[in-house]
Amino acid sequence: MSGALATTCPYCGVGCGVLASAGADGGVSITGDPRHPSNLGRLCVKGAALGETLDLQGRLLHPMLREPGGALRRADWNEALDRVANSFRQVIDSHGPDAVAFYVSGQLLTEDYYVVNKLAKGYIGTANIDTNSRLCMSSAVAGHKRAFGEDIVPGCYEDLEQAELIVLVGSNTAWCHPVIFQRMVAAKEQGAGVRIVVIDPRFTATCESADLHLPIKPGTDVWLFNGLLSFLFRHGAMDAAFVDAHTKGLVEALAAADADAGDPAEVARICGVQLADLLTFYRWFARHEKTVSLFSQGVNQSSSGTDKVNSIINCHLLTGRIGKPGRGPFSITGQPNAMGGREVGGLANMLAAHMELHDTVHRDIVQSFWDSPHIASQPGLKAVELFDAVLQGKVKALWIMGTNPVVSLPDADGVKRALEACELVVCSDIVEATDTNAFAHVLLPALGWGEKNGTVTSSERRISRQRPFLPAPGGARADWQIICDVAQRMGFGRDFQFGGPRDIFVEHARLTAFRNHEPQSDGLPAAQRQLNLGALATLSQQDYDALVPVQWPVTDEVRGSSRMFADGRFAHSDGRARFIATPGRAPAHAPDAEYPLVLNTGRVRDQWHTMTRTGKSSRLAGHVSEPYIDMHPHDALRFGVREGELARVHSRWGAMVARVRHGGGILVGHVFVPIHWNDQFASDARVGGLVNPVVDPVSGEPEFKHTPVMVEPFPVR
Ligand code: SF4
Repeated sequence: MSGALATTCPYCGVGCGVLASAGADGGVSITGDPRHPSNLGRLCVKGAALGETLDLQGRLLHPMLREPGGALRRADWNEALDRVANSFRQVIDSHGPDAVAFYVSGQLLTEDYYVVNKLAKGYIGTANIDTNSRLCMSSAVAGHKRAFGEDIVPGCYEDLEQAELIVLVGSNTAWCHPVIFQRMVAAKEQGAGVRIVVIDPRFTATCESADLHLPIKPGTDVWLFNGLLSFLFRHGAMDAAFVDAHTKGLVEALAAADADAGDPAEVARICGVQLADLLTFYRWFARHEKTVSLFSQGVNQSSSGTDKVNSIINCHLLTGRIGKPGRGPFSITGQPNAMGGREVGGLANMLAAHMELHDTVHRDIVQSFWDSPHIASQPGLKAVELFDAVLQGKVKALWIMGTNPVVSLPDADGVKRALEACELVVCSDIVEATDTNAFAHVLLPALGWGEKNGTVTSSERRISRQRPFLPAPGGARADWQIICDVAQRMGFGRDFQFGGPRDIFVEHARLTAFRNHEPQSDGLPAAQRQLNLGALATLSQQDYDALVPVQWPVTDEVRGSSRMFADGRFAHSDGRARFIATPGRAPAHAPDAEYPLVLNTGRVRDQWHTMTRTGKSSRLAGHVSEPYIDMHPHDALRFGVREGELARVHSRWGAMVARVRHGGGILVGHVFVPIHWNDQFASDARVGGLVNPVVDPVSGEPEFKHTPVMVEPFPVR
């Protein structure tokens, strides 16, 4: 083996450091990096098995073009890139810039994300570029912006080790962010009296380490936290000095909370939990000064996801528990670079450096920095609406990068129909055969993990390098390179001549510093504009190659700040955080006689997304080998299905078939199906086809956790 290279795991948002080395025999050695602050040498089983997923079987190694008869043929890069650039140009000339769109991924590196957003928003002139991160954390982004004035995660992983009370809301941390969970449990074992509360409708693996589990009815989180806000206020837990000096809006938020949830007995009834357990949680929260509330998809993936986020943040603002060690609301990201994408304007409503597309001053700043011919004039289409626009023929050319929406989006059969109807579908991917690539007119081979070079940002705002230790296979190219090649063919060459990822990173860092020196509509002092990488704007190639993990902001004055808001100054123009009134709202679709069960979806421990990589490891398949429908034995009896036998689960949007299992942790009236399996691994196994396409009105994040369904024996008896 050659010397090990320090890189970053490509799976979840924990962002663990990995030491990787490739041997002459083609094998790859993987160990946890003991010097990486996110994991201090730990890896979960997915990270440890990375070396088993890197073979070239199934890899897309050359550009492919679809012939008029439907067959794919190999093409050279010039022909494929010309086809993409010319087709995009023709569509724009005939139908305007909003007739093209991009759907990208939290798997992209920050440098890839930056150039594709620059191309779309600044040069083509459309904001129709959204990301699969819309599906996992956009409600947290929207909640942060409402409360803090910018999308800022206040805390860091060390807070979880310093807390006296950890509240895990809608997060199966043990399976979905395992190394964070390991750190938390290790701290609990060492620290006398540390308590963990899990708020989740299911009894998950995370609950095994909990001191209290509140199995709330899905969708009732806002009532639970409104009730907590009301309880904290009435029982003297308010930090009045903090609220007076640093916040606004308490009266309205309290009025909404009291109206909804002023009576704990009523909250317990609405949430479906024991009153005594609810009061235990409320009392523990009131009593423990050092409290962290960690949340993820169970909160975000909801038609009231943004309100859920703000209802949690409200409780931290009331108690002044933010910006201090061991305290804070903490949104954990699902993907390795969901956070990096946010930093460079990866969402359809954002611009780079945390600026907003709806703000004319921000648009002017970005356009003048890029010196670009256009800037998109309004926010673009968010993920679900973007595919609706494709189906309606408004978007005629779509470029999908590193994601598999035919499996992962809600109403996934509708996504299939949209791609069938689309004039031009371009897919950049590492894998040749996916459910989405089946609809591609152009397939472009991208570099994968171990081959790519750039940066990612973890859930705690830590920028960390992904470094290549494997050669580029076949004709595969870096995503940023492919995007720049197309940009040059579209006539934007001068501004897409990057020598490598370091040049792109430095331009991104310069833009964050540039923003802070421009007068802006928010009237905010520069120090309050939080994402600033000014000190990284002069990185040499050598510095970039050697970059050690660092949290932002990184300025000449501040290097690697662990916690934001330590001084009580927030990013709203008056420096104050906002309480947000969050009246409770039921999920969009209630179960009924036709669809009497509620479908919840999520991850299993050892698979990642649509299994294009983890599906290669037999070790990982050993944990859960096939898709399943987890349901309560009483419901199985009621609907005539048996454990171990196949059943068909269907909704108003679609159907799938899987084996029934009684995992033991699910409420009567509910079923759980994992998100990973798809038609490449099992037939009729895409749960996305069932999921309702309802989204949160603020964030656009879909309601993956609450779709009414029916279950019946398969084949139908
Ligand atoms: Fe990778 Fe997440 Fe596991 Fe860390 S916890 S090794 S980042 S999958």
